[in-house]
Amino acid sequence: MNTITTIIKDPNRIIYQNNIPKSHLSDGLQLKYGQAELLVYPVTTAEVSQIVQYAYSKGINITTRGAGTNLVGSTIPNGGIIIDLSLMNTIVELDKETFTITVQPGILLQDLQQWVEKQDLFYPPDPGAKNATIGGNISTNAGGMRAVKYGVTRDYVQAIEVVMADGSVLNFGSKNVKDNTGLSLKHLFIGSEGTLGIITQCTLKLIAKPKAFETLIIGFKSIDLAIANITTILQTLTPTALEFVERQVAQWGERYSGFQFPLPNAQAYLIVMLDGADHQTILQQRQQLLANLTDCEHFIAETVEQASQIWAVRGSLVRAVEAVTEQDPIDIVVPINKIADFIHYTKQLEAKTGVRMLAFGHAGDGNIHLCLLRDGREQAQWQRLLEQVHCALYLKCHQLGGLPSAEHGIGTAKVNYFKQAIPEDNRQLMQAIKQQFDRKNILNNQVYILQI
Ligand SMILES: Cc1cc2nc3c(=O)[nH]c(=O)nc-3n(C[C@H](O)[C@H](O)[C@H](O)COP(=O)(O)OP(=O)(O)OC[C@H]3O[C@@H](n4cnc5c(N)ncnc54)[C@H](O)[C@@H]3O)c2cc1C
Repeated sequence: MNTITTIIKDPNRIIYQNNIPKSHLSDGLQLKYGQAELLVYPVTTAEVSQIVQYAYSKGINITTRGAGTNLVGSTIPNGGIIIDLSLMNTIVELDKETFTITVQPGILLQDLQQWVEKQDLFYPPDPGAKNATIGGNISTNAGGMRAVKYGVTRDYVQAIEVVMADGSVLNFGSKNVKDNTGLSLKHLFIGSEGTLGIITQCTLKLIAKPKAFETLIIGFKSIDLAIANITTILQTLTPTALEFVERQVAQWGERYSGFQFPLPNAQAYLIVMLDGADHQTILQQRQQLLANLTDCEHFIAETVEQASQIWAVRGSLVRAVEAVTEQDPIDIVVPINKIADFIHYTKQLEAKTGVRMLAFGHAGDGNIHLCLLRDGREQAQWQRLLEQVHCALYLKCHQLGGLPSAEHGIGTAKVNYFKQAIPEDNRQLMQAIKQQFDRKNILNNQVYILQI
């Protein structure tokens, strides 16, 4: 590893085995840890390229890391070198004429969003962890709440610069709005969890910033009524966000965030965000929406503060649970007409196994997040129960036509369920692509792709 010091000359940007922070040996859950010999912080594409070239020549494993907020074990290293891209975080170019921004991968989502909004522009993808990096968001094809209207990260990646497994640097995509010029290799990297290459720069699509936003919360007497109204809402309009939360789940967020949801007597909520060119447009959307809903009460956030408190309760749910007990996160997606079936099944399974399950999620796109609560069980018992519950949940999801990951990815955590969901021929094709891109299998080789 001596060569690394000739590539990265600043000793502060190289950390050796025993001094690597424990957090860098894990993912966002910090429950499982791997090991690595070296952690490096490159600041240029050339440095990344030379490190990878060296690792390739020696057959050393590389784990690429953004902010480490993933929830599926994909940054738990399997020896070798961790390449942390957090210092490659500058804005390279804002091109207002093509509505694009070019950034280094380590820029944080929250910094990018705030920066472009000051220019009256908008980067729509809005996954929950605002401290994640854009490189991480692209590599996980991160989704989030605004996906129902605006789509996911994939829809905003115009071009990427990638350091390939042998250290060569290639570019994919362009600033052109349309592109049907050969196979879209760019899309293979998006969502590939760092298995095909390291993204060292990217050009993202922006849109004009909506001038007005409104949040309203709709309360129902039961989760069934709430879910039944999801289709009604989507038939009426496409909201910016459409989330569902049960009352008992909201209470966790209320305790943690210190804010209260309005309509405390409801048993389930749909939280709706609307956006538009002006307040008049929003008013029309809201009137249309409320006219079509049945058996509900509603609350309209009159101020930015009220709206941000509602979203703070929703946004704090995972952390609220983790403050009380260890949790195992599930991120399944089912066709939107199957949401109720899946939620009912979780309640049956909860009663049968005794494992508490808190369900909430992106109702508008069928993405249900479940927190499975450990609740003080000793490790061996918890692992046994977890396996039983996982098998049952992923099987049900599969039977309903769903998939094991909507947005978090497969990582190391969901390999078995990935196998269940994806036919063998398709898996073999994925492996062939991985082998073509990374002949020595050095990039993130701990994650699913060759273990299936
Ligand atoms: C509280 C909380 C809420 C969350 N909410 C959401 C949500 O709403 N939607 C959602 O989609 N996810 C969510 N996540 C998961 C997580 O934030 C996302 O997966 C995020 O995109 C990861 O970004 P990161 O910078 O932390 O990447 P990391 O965790 O560091 O890495 C994730 C994967 O990307 C690879 N990678 C990172 N950077 C690069 C790069 N430049 N080139 C190649 N590979 C790279 C890594 O090797 C790894 O495989 C949430 C997580 C938490 C903790």
